[in-house]
Amino acid sequence: VFNFAAGPATLPENVLLKAQSELYNWRGSGMSVMEMSHRGKEFLSIIQKAESDLRTLLNIPSEYSVLFLQGGATTQFAAIPLNLCTPQDNVDYVVTGSWGDKAFKEAQKYCKPKVIWSGKSEKYTKIPSFSDLDQSSNARYLHICANETIHGVEFKDYPTPKNGVLVADMSSNFCSKPVDVSRFGLIYAGAQKNVGPSGVTIVIIRKDLIGNAQGLTPVMLDYKIHDENDSLYNTPPCYGIYMCGLVFEDLVEQGGLKEVEKKNKKKAEILYNAIDESKGFFRCPVEKSVRSLMNVPFTLEKAELEAEFIKEAAKEKMVQLKGHRSVGGMRASIYNAMPLAGVEKLVAFMKDFQARHA
Ligand code: PLP
Repeated sequence: VFNFAAGPATLPENVLLKAQSELYNWRGSGMSVMEMSHRGKEFLSIIQKAESDLRTLLNIPSEYSVLFLQGGATTQFAAIPLNLCTPQDNVDYVVTGSWGDKAFKEAQKYCKPKVIWSGKSEKYTKIPSFSDLDQSSNARYLHICANETIHGVEFKDYPTPKNGVLVADMSSNFCSKPVDVSRFGLIYAGAQKNVGPSGVTIVIIRKDLIGNAQGLTPVMLDYKIHDENDSLYNTPPCYGIYMCGLVFEDLVEQGGLKEVEKKNKKKAEILYNAIDESKGFFRCPVEKSVRSLMNVPFTLEKAELEAEFIKEAAKEKMVQLKGHRSVGGMRASIYNAMPLAGVEKLVAFMKDFQARHA
């Protein structure tokens, strides 16, 4: 099948086959990665290679730490204010969709966040112009969600914080294109869209921001603890990290993130063109300049046909096209591992469906 799920999502077939081939016996060790000590030399080589390939892919400067954590991006919604602020500190949130909103609400428990822009009244179809942002002069950080998975809006450039650092949730566009890491104080991402199984959560943080966690911060949320222990303070999600490592290796072999971005742009262009050229039969509500390369939400002019569309597509082996329950319609998630052939098949199906139902 072509799996258009928003996450957990499709992974590269060659990566899954490689994992299968070494499932019982990892490279002659006689053990599955699931059975290894996380402190043994085999697993250390796996986590170190994963970090090194990720550093290569994103060109991560040496003054940044890479942490392999767990608990999903949702856990980071709390960990970030706990580590970067005191309870009295002001921080700014730009809310371009449901995930940014959730991050803001969680931060309210640990510091004094302010929403300085929200796209809610326009149903989260826009990214603000940066000059319109009324940033607080004393904010410790400015938080954005680089790609809103549910609404399909993506930052194409990033605002510069007036004060403090830029923090970005990149869960759903992580490793989909090159990013200038040096513009951020902290980048975080749940793995389950582009890079691996759910649970693994990657944090890339400038080292000087580590070490100031609030006193009540649980040990598992304290970046200093994880940094000092090379992400091995407790038992990490070993198999998930191994899978992420295989994906990073594959992305390096594909020629890096510039090449990956080219492929992603081509897939997205074909799909958005099909929507825009359907004369209103299909519609994408998102403003053109900020449409996501990863998550493409669309509706049918005749909304009563949407269930039929999803059912027929599934019969044709294109699955998980239903939009998020909060917005309805359809959503095609076309992460790195979605082949061009999958998007071409979807577009051909859309044209055929339109011809039959217009
Ligand atoms: N942020 C974004 C942009 C997401 O798409 C998601 C989940 O899908 C999350 C955060 C929450 O991630 P998790 O379920 O790993 O906590």
